[in-house]
Amino acid sequence: MIEEKGILFVLSGPSGVGKGTVRKELFQHDTALRYSISMTTREKRQGETDGVDYFYKTNEEFESLIAQNKLLEYAKYVNNYYGTPRDYVEKTLAEGHDVFLEIEVQGALQVKENFPEGVFIFLFPPSLEELKNRIVNRGTETEELVLNRLKAARDEIEMMDAYDYVVVNDQIKHAVAKVKSIIQSEHCKRERI
Ligand code: 5GP
Repeated sequence: MIEEKGILFVLSGPSGVGKGTVRKELFQHDTALRYSISMTTREKRQGETDGVDYFYKTNEEFESLIAQNKLLEYAKYVNNYYGTPRDYVEKTLAEGHDVFLEIEVQGALQVKENFPEGVFIFLFPPSLEELKNRIVNRGTETEELVLNRLKAARDEIEMMDAYDYVVVNDQIKHAVAKVKSIIQSEHCKRERI
């Protein structure tokens, strides 16, 4: 098989959907994937380590990285910056390793603009899925309630369309299994003799 560049996998989705849990579980088993450690200005939480969980930066340092175009994407999330180091991702892909990003939605859409060949996975909360099904299929809610619910779900669902895959996070082990099979499929898709 011809060794090519690695594949960029981006796991994203609405906040609270369990991206971090799925990613950590995935990395328990997959040693070939390289996780891109993000930069952030948020405070280090107890149990976190600089250079393992994140690279912790001051606001000034982060804004200087932005100015030097050192970030592949960045976003402000709950008053803190989060961003993906460009050099690490480009170098690791060029070496033939797959890179895995776990980032929020605004950032993922920026990556898609610059890296359309990446594989974008949207992790979807089962409660929203149930909500969507109910809105679409049942039609028993009052019209106002349906509209309110649709409005709340709309932004995320619209963004979901920009992704290659949607994984419903009903149970962590199922979601992880699906992400693994996406990774395998993407390799099969690209395999050439
Ligand atoms: P937390 O503060 O809980 O670690 O992360 C908050 C959010 O930031 C999560 O949704 C996480 O996926 C996202 N995030 C982590 N790193 C990055 C990054 O490099 N870029 C972007 N855009 N979001 C990130």
